[in-house]
Amino acid sequence: AAKAERRGSCRSFEVAMDEAAQAKSRLETDLRKAVQEGELEVYYQPLLNLETGAVECCEALLRWNHAERGQVSPEVFVPLAEELGLIDKLGRFVLQTACREATRWPEQIRVSVNVSPVQFRNGNLLSTVINALANSGLDAGRLELEITEAVLMEQGPRPAAIIRNLRAFGIGISLDDFGTGYSSLSYLLNYPFTKIKIDKSFILNLHEEASSRAVIRAVIGLGRSLGLAVAAEGIESDVEREYLRSEGCTQGQGFLFGRPQPGSMLEFAGMSSRKT
Ligand code: C2E
Ligand code: MG
Ligand code: MG
Ligand code: MG
Repeated sequence: AAKAERRGSCRSFEVAMDEAAQAKSRLETDLRKAVQEGELEVYYQPLLNLETGAVECCEALLRWNHAERGQVSPEVFVPLAEELGLIDKLGRFVLQTACREATRWPEQIRVSVNVSPVQFRNGNLLSTVINALANSGLDAGRLELEITEAVLMEQGPRPAAIIRNLRAFGIGISLDDFGTGYSSLSYLLNYPFTKIKIDKSFILNLHEEASSRAVIRAVIGLGRSLGLAVAAEGIESDVEREYLRSEGCTQGQGFLFGRPQPGSMLEFAGMSSRKT
């Protein structure tokens, strides 16, 4: 009986594996198509100066509007695109679109774009970025790239050389999701970052957990003493905003200030007429 049962559960495991593999391959087909057929769209979420309330930057966040599935999360399709070798194409699309749209914003507002570790590996990131700036006419000083520690864990001198080159053009480099990886201090000292973004998990637990508040305070102190801007993501309440402001956090991003939205919906004080 035990043997039969084992065989039974084994078979259903195989069926489940099969179904998962099929679902994944359908998603792959759809993603290749989405890239061709323009189902991908760039949304923007503001980062505000916590002292003045002014919008200083907007982060470009990729969206996939799937005909049947609805909106698919980038947490799902970005890793898939990396695996399928589609991330360069996606990355190019986001950079081109974000730079072009940002030229319509007031010039004190920058645009930040997330870059995958895989884009660093493939070798053409620098030219992709330079092309996006040249095609749009956006000033390099208005572009920031957001990278995670995963980029820095690549072996060899490559990421460091690319980052230094980007900085030499005047492009800002933010360390995203800080506090979730190794958060090695040597990264902060050895790479020319311009901003640290505290991961939203710390903001989420700020009320209940003294340890989250301790991390937040430490990162803000670290950033300030290194002369870097410090941004907090995931701010949803006035209490969180006020805490971060009083601790000296420079910028804030979160649903309290605005959700990610299409470029055509953005409105800034003093914005000139919009072309789409
Ligand atoms: P991220 O770069 O850390 O982006 C911040 C995420 O936090 C976004 O999720 C944003 O919508 C969400 N968020 C912002 N404020 C709040 C808040 O107050 N509460 C909560 N609960 N969430 C908030 P999103 O847009 O789903 O993106 C998820 C991740 O996907 C991004 O994390 C980034 O790692 C990746 N991603 C998005 N677009 C791109 C892209 O164009 N290229 C690459 N390589 N990765 C991307
Ligand atoms: Mg980001
Ligand atoms: Mg982040
Ligand atoms: Mg993240």
